[in-house]
Amino acid sequence: MDYFSEHTWENYDRDGRSSERLSYIKKMIPSKVQTILDAGCGNGLITNELARDYKVTALDPSPVALQYVQCPKICASIDAIPFPDSSFDLVCCNEVLEHLDDPTLKKGISEIKRVSKKYLIIGVPFKEQLEKKFYRCAVCGFTENVYSHLQSFDLAKLDELLTPDFILLEHHIFGPPERTIHPFLLSILHKQGQWFLPPKRQKCPQCGSSEYLHKSNLLTKLINGLNLIISHSHPYWLYTLYQKKDKI
Ligand SMILES: [Zn+2]
Repeated sequence: MDYFSEHTWENYDRDGRSSERLSYIKKMIPSKVQTILDAGCGNGLITNELARDYKVTALDPSPVALQYVQCPKICASIDAIPFPDSSFDLVCCNEVLEHLDDPTLKKGISEIKRVSKKYLIIGVPFKEQLEKKFYRCAVCGFTENVYSHLQSFDLAKLDELLTPDFILLEHHIFGPPERTIHPFLLSILHKQGQWFLPPKRQKCPQCGSSEYLHKSNLLTKLINGLNLIISHSHPYWLYTLYQKKDKI
């Protein structure tokens, strides 16, 4: 996923699933909130809606994505937020943390905690099986999660990052069902050359090719069938509301 490409953002959320996330976010925003920082706003699908009712500032490292944002905005990264401590009643951070490597995640979390006066709303994919959506370039062998996700979260992992200086007020697990693939079966699929297929026009970030390994044979068909019987599914999203603990 290329955050700086026009193609990424003009096609973002083509399936219109942001409306469900927006309705949860709106329900979670505490009544006294007036100012919001949307950290990692992307193309502003949610930001622009929140800006109808709140004083919203949008932050994203991609100037291309920010073109679509219709409220005050700043081009910056979550791990170096150019605002003083406690600048916003609420910091929203949706679909961002899963894209960060370990050091950036740690710094990003400390930054959103710092600029929040009171609340944090954090939305991430719930228990995402990252390897399930690994693609492999047929030319150079480059392999990564199709959305460039590097982290997988559950409530315990978020709690570990946010407590004890913030406390969890509420959480919601919702969205379309996401089926897991048994890791052993997935390893066989990969050995057989069946990898996740990226959308058309997506180019390999390493060599620029748009050819990907996606072989199918009798064994891969059998494995996919078997997986339907033994695997389980869970809702895609985890959204949380945290509150800053008052200093004694
Ligand atoms: Zn390649």
